[in-house]
Amino acid sequence: MSSIDIQERTFCRICEAACPLVADVTADRVRLRPDAEDPAGHGYACAKGTRFGALLRHPERLTTPQVGRGTQRRDATWDEALRVIRDQVRPQIRQYGAHSVGIYFGNPAAFNSFAAPAMLALQKSLGSRNMYSAGSQDCNNKFTGAWIVYGSPVVHPLPDVERCDHLILFGSNPLLSQSSFVHLDGGATALDRLVDRGGTITIVDPVATDSVRRWGGHVPIRPGRDAWLLLSLLERLRDREPDPALPHAGLAQLLDLAGRWPAERTAELTGVAVATVDELAEKIASGRCALHMSVGVNQGGFGTLSYVCLQALMLLGGGLDAAGGNLFHPLAVQMAKRLPGGGYGDRHQRSRIGGYPGVMGTLPGGILADEILTPGSERIRTLICVAGDPLSTMADAGRLQDAFERLDLLVTVDIFASRTTELSDVVLPATTWLERFDVATTASTFQLGDTVRASGAVVAPAADARNDARILADLSIAIGRPLFGNRLLAQLYGSVPEQLARSAAGRAVGRRLAAGLRRLRLPAPAPGTWRGGARRGLTFWNDVVAAEAQRFEEASQQIATHAADELVLLGRRRRLGHNSWLHGADRERTHEDVAWIAPETAERLALEAAGSVQLRRGSQAIRCRYEVHEGVPPDTIVVPHGMRGANINALIPAGADAIEPFSGMHRMNGWTVQIVGDGAASRVSSGH
Ligand code: SF4
Repeated sequence: MSSIDIQERTFCRICEAACPLVADVTADRVRLRPDAEDPAGHGYACAKGTRFGALLRHPERLTTPQVGRGTQRRDATWDEALRVIRDQVRPQIRQYGAHSVGIYFGNPAAFNSFAAPAMLALQKSLGSRNMYSAGSQDCNNKFTGAWIVYGSPVVHPLPDVERCDHLILFGSNPLLSQSSFVHLDGGATALDRLVDRGGTITIVDPVATDSVRRWGGHVPIRPGRDAWLLLSLLERLRDREPDPALPHAGLAQLLDLAGRWPAERTAELTGVAVATVDELAEKIASGRCALHMSVGVNQGGFGTLSYVCLQALMLLGGGLDAAGGNLFHPLAVQMAKRLPGGGYGDRHQRSRIGGYPGVMGTLPGGILADEILTPGSERIRTLICVAGDPLSTMADAGRLQDAFERLDLLVTVDIFASRTTELSDVVLPATTWLERFDVATTASTFQLGDTVRASGAVVAPAADARNDARILADLSIAIGRPLFGNRLLAQLYGSVPEQLARSAAGRAVGRRLAAGLRRLRLPAPAPGTWRGGARRGLTFWNDVVAAEAQRFEEASQQIATHAADELVLLGRRRRLGHNSWLHGADRERTHEDVAWIAPETAERLALEAAGSVQLRRGSQAIRCRYEVHEGVPPDTIVVPHGMRGANINALIPAGADAIEPFSGMHRMNGWTVQIVGDGAASRVSSGH
């Protein structure tokens, strides 16, 4: 075994938890382990983070620019690759305008402290409305809901996990993902501490997940029915008087809607018994109950309405802005004050197809194929994908692939080969988070503590890989739209992260800078932050909520007419994989690409305990491995996402029926499929 050359304090940049890590660097590998000396980390890091070091030299790692599609693909220099982009995009913008260039960015871009601002700057300097992100597949409903209630998409009350008596999680599996839109110090250990001090955890989820197995408190719900349950909970609390120090408007209209959906009416729809709704309502009304909802609800088709209802439950339960309930981050409240209303429905950003508003500067991914394929001078002709693999993560992958093949130019910036890089004309290799300096800016307004996470580059960038920020700066110059409107500023901005990583001296500077930043303390969420700082009331009803309520009522009517015999499609988190760019921590795609079905479903369909099935919906079909899994609801199939061997996204339709009209959020769960196994077939009806 090689001796350790360097021992470096760093942090994981896969999700908001930003777990502190120690990197043991030897000549041939980087081994990552939880940083036991960081008190805020509680010695925790999950397998996704600790195994990341193995990916640095993975055969699928991109380390050299490439140009050419298919059999024409070859290695190139950076100058050559940028020249291909320049020669295509400059005349294209002159002829068709800036909207003919689209940009897609995946979640990892948000965890790169230089690339995230560069992405915003590129959108501004390019002047294209056609920005897309992973947000419309997992969280844009939360930005929209926060904009409605708090006047800003950046304000999200955080569950006070360290002080609450009860924690109710909707559609969240924190053992595998630590949940999103919250940074729990010590990740899953925060929930262990809650249970250890006598608190209760309730997990509302269709599946008995790993989190349920660890913490119990499972409330099974039918897939996609969370909005009905949340309204029933509101109905139970509708006579309570909210804190007079939290002025609000529109609550009466929301409660009118809730009044039409008491538990007695929704129990059959949701599968949640009346007595269970009463128990949950009692916990919420204790004022010591923290609430949190996550991707499972976001993707259900009524994520915006659900999020607004959740905020109303916090208010009526007495936990909003209070110890043991949900707390506001002071930085988020300040940002909201300085930029009221910013981030939603920019009047300049409406999609050409469908007229959808922009959310945090991005349009719904569900219309991307149409924006490419639908004729018109402003159709997208060049697409730049940064830190994302839309062909794996977005709905209706078959049609999206057709669209990508029709592009004049497809550029990807990534760390690994992917389905999207395979189809690209230009592939630009990026550095991983172990090869760059970072400060955890994205996590800062989601954290309950006061720590600053910062890290220098642990190792030098691999071969020709560059920081995404440098790549975006060079790219902006190549297309004649430099970041900040100035070529020199763009060059300077792009060079800083490179300087902090490329040379040993630069990395030493980055390490010292990171150590200094880690000594700083941020303001932390505390009770009364909203009351003391926001100086605005809460809004629970506006045109958007009214329209969503109308859509909800119409969908409710359709449920009543659908057949009960249906096999419902549900996505799931994985222990090792994360989104499209981390398919298993060693990039072997066989570990977790397995769909799950309940024992009784297998019996009904005459399927073996494990095997292979074809799943079909409309013209889309995939073949995947399956296994019988305890804890899966009957007549449901739980399929992971983003994996080549089993990708739920390939079966999900795109188009207006699948998109929330105001948040652009794609409905990713609750579709029904035909399953064909060995000698067994079941045709099932469509439902909500
Ligand atoms: S919980 Fe998130 S930040 Fe922590 S190690 Fe896992 S993936 Fe990384």
